[in-house]
Amino acid sequence: MKILIVGAGLSGCSMARLLKDSGHDITIIEQKAHIGGLCVTRVNGDGILYEPFGARTFHATNQKVIRFVTRFDSFNGFVHKKGIFIDGKIYPYPISMRTVQQLEQKEMILQELRERPKRINKINFEKASVSVYGNTLYNLFIKPYSLKMWGRDPKDLEAALAIKRMELRYDDRQSLFGDEWQGLPVHGYSFLLKSMIRQIPLRLNTAQFNPADYDVVVFSGPIDQFFKYRYGKLEYRSLRFYYRRNERWENNNYGTINLPQHSLYIRKCNFKVMHKQITKQSLIQYQKPVEEDDNHMPMYPVRSRKNSQAFDKYLHLICKTHICPIGRLGLFSYLNMDQVVELSFSILSIINKYPVLTPQQRYDKIKNAIKKYNNLENKK
Ligand SMILES: Cc1cc2nc3c(=O)[nH]c(=O)nc-3n(C[C@H](O)[C@H](O)[C@H](O)COP(=O)(O)OP(=O)(O)OC[C@H]3O[C@@H](n4cnc5c(N)ncnc54)[C@H](O)[C@@H]3O)c2cc1C
Repeated sequence: MKILIVGAGLSGCSMARLLKDSGHDITIIEQKAHIGGLCVTRVNGDGILYEPFGARTFHATNQKVIRFVTRFDSFNGFVHKKGIFIDGKIYPYPISMRTVQQLEQKEMILQELRERPKRINKINFEKASVSVYGNTLYNLFIKPYSLKMWGRDPKDLEAALAIKRMELRYDDRQSLFGDEWQGLPVHGYSFLLKSMIRQIPLRLNTAQFNPADYDVVVFSGPIDQFFKYRYGKLEYRSLRFYYRRNERWENNNYGTINLPQHSLYIRKCNFKVMHKQITKQSLIQYQKPVEEDDNHMPMYPVRSRKNSQAFDKYLHLICKTHICPIGRLGLFSYLNMDQVVELSFSILSIINKYPVLTPQQRYDKIKNAIKKYNNLENKK
C-alpha cells in the first residue's frame, strides 16, 4: 500500500520502519525542521549530550521492543534513579518504607497505611493517591507535586493518571523503573530515530498533505487539531526548560530529582549522569510545568473526564476515514517509549487491514490496542 506517515517522532518513525519492512511504500512528513518530536538529543558546547525536551530513559521488558530499538543504536545501560527533595533532604523516589521510617510523621503514616482500603479508589486522582499512600504521605509528597505538574486540582483528574506511576516500595530497590533493561541510546535519540528511518523518504517543514493520495495515512499529530477542534481542544501540560552549567549536584546516584516544594520547578536533571559521560563540566536542566501553547509542545495529555469524552468522539470520527491515529497525540494517551514501540507492533496488523475494516472495527481494534496502557483493571 501507499502510506503516508505524519510526524517523525518515535511513533511515526517506528511505524514507518515496521511498515517499510512489511513491504509498503512509505513517505514521512514532519512539520518541524528536524525529526524526533520529544525524542531529540543535542550536544552542548562542552560536548555533553542533552535532551532539549526533557531527559528520558528507555526501559522495557518486551523482548520484541528491545530487539527492535537495539537494531538502530546500542544503549548505555543507565539505570534511572530518581530522588525527591523534601524539607532540605533528598530521598529516593518512589517513596519506600525505608523513607517513611526516616520521617517525623512516621507513626501517623504507618497508621494511615494500615487503615488503607484493600482496593485503589478509582473515583479521581486524589482519592486514588490517598488510598495508596494515606493522607500524610499524599500531602507531603504527591499533592504539591501534582498541583504544580498539572496546574489543576487533583480531584479534577482521572485516577488513571495517578495509578500509572503510583508506587510505595517495600523493598530497597532504588531504580525508578522496574524493567531490567534500561538505558539511553549511546549516540542519542536523534541518531536512533535517524537510523530507524534510513532510506525512507522524509519531507521536513511540511504539515500539508492530501489524504486522497494515499491508501492509508498514519497520523501522529494531535487528533483534535486534525478536526480543527470540532469537539473542543484536548488539554496538554508542557514544560519550559532552564539550564545551569556546572551547578552543584547533590547526589550522583540520581539522574533526576523531583522538586515538589520549589515555587517554580518540578524537577531537575543532570545529563552527564544519564548519558554516563565523564566530563569536568555538567549541564543541569530545570523543568517548569506550563500549559501547552504555540511555544510549548503538547507533552502530557491531561486525563480529565471532559478530555477523555472528547477524545472518544474524535476517535469515532477519524475511524470513518482511512486515517489511522497513533502515538501520544493521535491517541491522547500517556505512553512511555517502550509502549510506543509495542503499540506500533499492534497497530501494524491493524493498518495492514485498514482499508477493508469498517469504521466500527477500526474503532474497536484501536480502543482494544490502547486499553492496556490506560486501563485500571490490572491494578488492585
Ligand atoms: C518530559 C518527558 C519525559 C519523558 N520521559 C520518558 C522516559 O523517561 N521514558 C519513557 O519511556 N518515556 C518518556 N516520555 C515519553 C516519550 O517521550 C513519548 O512516549 C514519545 O516521545 C512519544 O512520541 P510520539 O511520536 O508519540 O510523539 P511526539 O514526540 O510528540 O512526536 C509527534 C511528531 O509529530 C509531528 N507533528 C504533529 N502534527 C503534525 C502534522 N500535522 N504534520 C506533520 N508533523 C506533525 C510533531 O512535530 C512531532 O515531531 C517522556 C515524555 C516527556 C514529555
